[in-house]
Amino acid sequence: MESKNSDRMKSDKCYYCLEPKKGVEHVPPKCFFPQEGKKNYRNNLITVPSCDVHNSNKSTDDQYMFLLFNVISNFNDDPTARKWLVDKGVATILRRSHILTTLTDDLRIMDGKLVYRNASKEVVLKPDYSRIGGFFSAMARAIFFKENSESWGGGVFVIPLFLVRVMLNNTVSFNKLLLDISRYNSSKGQNKDVFSYTFSSGEGFDGKLLHMFFYGEFEAVCFFLPDAAREGVLSKFKDVPGALWV
Ligand SMILES: [Zn+2]
Repeated sequence: MESKNSDRMKSDKCYYCLEPKKGVEHVPPKCFFPQEGKKNYRNNLITVPSCDVHNSNKSTDDQYMFLLFNVISNFNDDPTARKWLVDKGVATILRRSHILTTLTDDLRIMDGKLVYRNASKEVVLKPDYSRIGGFFSAMARAIFFKENSESWGGGVFVIPLFLVRVMLNNTVSFNKLLLDISRYNSSKGQNKDVFSYTFSSGEGFDGKLLHMFFYGEFEAVCFFLPDAAREGVLSKFKDVPGALWV
């Protein structure tokens, strides 16, 4: 029996840092999955062993990503998960209105109503790239662990594709969010997947590749690369908004 990388394969260790396991981490976070309706989205969620740092520390990133998905959604359709996402996002924003300042400087909430900074109602998104990179790279490392039964020892290069599209346009319409705040209710829709992914060996480069899809709309890609590839990759992708080596 080969025992290569045996340290990385121990399931009593954190998927991220190999410190002793203190609990399990849901991937994506449990809070992304709707709880209500006929279908229980919280069955058979992906979990990996984690230490305290790589479990509790992520909750701020998780909440941030949840809201980011909310405000930039195109809302082409309205399945259960999407509806639930919006309801929950709106509730969070109404409860903790200062959280909007982590997404944009052009919008705030006063007395439950959106107030625009500019008469044009143009809202420029101000993404926290390090938070976003942290979220996706942690997810990528967890899924790598799940797929390969060992933790990834190199770097993760994250490209949040959905955000690249948004940022190249530079402005975002928050109008849908405005509508949802004024029409806030809890009506139900139909079943739809919250999250899916494909994991593959990369073609044209020496490494592994993970595609992630959230709510049928948001796509991110992560490359698993040796640390030595860092400089080359960063210079090649330097103009891509949100592309980050974590
Ligand atoms: Zn850890």
